[in-house]
Amino acid sequence: MSTHAIFRAPTPRNEPINDYAPGSSERERLQRRIQQMRDERIEIPLVIGGKDVTTGELKQAVMPHDKEHVLADVHQGSAAHVQMAVDAAASAWADWSRWPWEERATVLLRAAELLAGPWRDTLNAATMLGQSKTAHQAEIDAACESIDFFRFNVEFMTRIYAEQPISSPGMWNRIEYRPLEGFVFAVSPFNFTAIAANLTSSPALMGNTIVWKPAGTAMLSAYYLMRLFQEAGLPDGVINLVYGSGPAIGDAALGSPHLAGIHFTGSTPVFNGMWRTVASNMERFRNYPRIVGETGGKDFIVAHPSADVDALATAIVRGSFEYQGQKCSASSRVYAPSNLWPALRERLQEQVATITMGDVSDFRNFMGAVIDSASFRTQADAIEEAKASSQSDIVVGGGYDDSRGYFVEPTVIETRDPGFRTMRDELFGPVVTTYVYDENKWDDTLELVDKTAPYGLTGAVFSEDRAAVTDAQEKLRYTAGNFYVNDKPTGAVVGQQPFGGARASGTNDKAGSMWNLIRWVSPRSIKETFTPPTSYRYPFMDAGADDAGT
Ligand code: NAD
Repeated sequence: MSTHAIFRAPTPRNEPINDYAPGSSERERLQRRIQQMRDERIEIPLVIGGKDVTTGELKQAVMPHDKEHVLADVHQGSAAHVQMAVDAAASAWADWSRWPWEERATVLLRAAELLAGPWRDTLNAATMLGQSKTAHQAEIDAACESIDFFRFNVEFMTRIYAEQPISSPGMWNRIEYRPLEGFVFAVSPFNFTAIAANLTSSPALMGNTIVWKPAGTAMLSAYYLMRLFQEAGLPDGVINLVYGSGPAIGDAALGSPHLAGIHFTGSTPVFNGMWRTVASNMERFRNYPRIVGETGGKDFIVAHPSADVDALATAIVRGSFEYQGQKCSASSRVYAPSNLWPALRERLQEQVATITMGDVSDFRNFMGAVIDSASFRTQADAIEEAKASSQSDIVVGGGYDDSRGYFVEPTVIETRDPGFRTMRDELFGPVVTTYVYDENKWDDTLELVDKTAPYGLTGAVFSEDRAAVTDAQEKLRYTAGNFYVNDKPTGAVVGQQPFGGARASGTNDKAGSMWNLIRWVSPRSIKETFTPPTSYRYPFMDAGADDAGT
């Protein structure tokens, strides 16, 4: 295939968010799809080389808010299936890695249109039921953010390709952005369907082939996402879906000589373990694998004594409790000045008391359940610890109940110890801890914000005083890769706030920007000389008058 034009990709725009208000046709359609999915119990295969593969080893996909309700029985793979997927990826690579960029782009642009239209309800409903997201949370994730990744990444790819070297007279220098030689291992977390969409499709767009292991708690949405890729025209073997336990699938994939890259999002300990496995396998690899990982966070909101209390309270409630606090960007530690605390405390108690929680199919709920029994235990333990400690009190919430689903009340803890465990550890649930600082100790507080946790993902400063904003921006330069001023620290939008953090939060390769895509290519410099020299001698070597006699 050859291209006889320099094509321009369609200008991307962020997908508009449906609001699912009562009486709207979109609400009715989504509710119908939810009902269908609740009523059926499907069997889900692995998809390797475009073929459905069953293993007979089944794991149930349940609804976190109704834990006995089985949505699907999902076939689980083993090391042998990873090998099949690696082989399928290699055979697809021979062709896909040579497709013209615009042909690859059409697959993703078509996926975006299908998801904006006929697939929207399916991916949203699967995300709602399987991951316990409300309609709004599913819409901004599974539909809008996935669509944005597909559309914007096409544009980012063209920007990378357009980056070319200069050429001196008589030659033409070019850079070709080759796909990596080997497969990319994509490992996705449970909490964002769009992350799974991006971890797989961004390397694929750049011409790579993928072995994909989704989270065991997001298997239903992963299945429909795979079907969407297939319907969009992704050739067989470009993305290979292998369900299974993390270590079983991970160790097999990370031991393959053909591993060219890891595209991971999940917790810091799992990423550290993968990095160690890669290091111990170094002699086997044909290439040094690209290791890209976005990991945990202990995201903060720090309020200056000049902050607007209403804006602050709203940011805490939305930033800490939307999707049950299970966003890597969710605020989980708050630094409140003593002058504002009485008012803030009251607002939090009032607002949190009005939060509705329950089955996400009931659209009146603001929150669903946490993802599984392990997370439920983590939250319950932290709450009990706070209740028992002389250093902390429960401001609001503190209840939990897993009789039907894994429900944890939105909980605000107040601590008098800035190093209290829940100020440091990622809990990944609807529990936020507040430390009230002496309003005269702004500088010391910024120091605490920076030093308390090992992470560096997101954070927000609230202040009406410009100097304090500048101060925080400067002193917290490395404390957050996504820094917000008078806004909650969640809700990054593709193309608007490229996402990621450093320190223990990952490699900060900024999903939703061209900087992520650059990791999935291995540039080749090509120099072509039009009239090459035909003698090895340089002019300076010719004899001149001054050389006589020497
Ligand atoms: P997790 O680390 O438990 O799992 C992530 C993925 O890794 C899953 O697919 C899991 O099956 C897999 N896995 C587990 N052990 C493995 C192994 N030994 N080898 C290979 N793969 C293995 O994380 P989670 O609970 O799904 O997601 C929550 C975490 O993700 C939180 O820590 C959150 O902060 C983080 N997160 C970060 C970002 C970000 O952009 N920084 C975004 C979303 C989530």
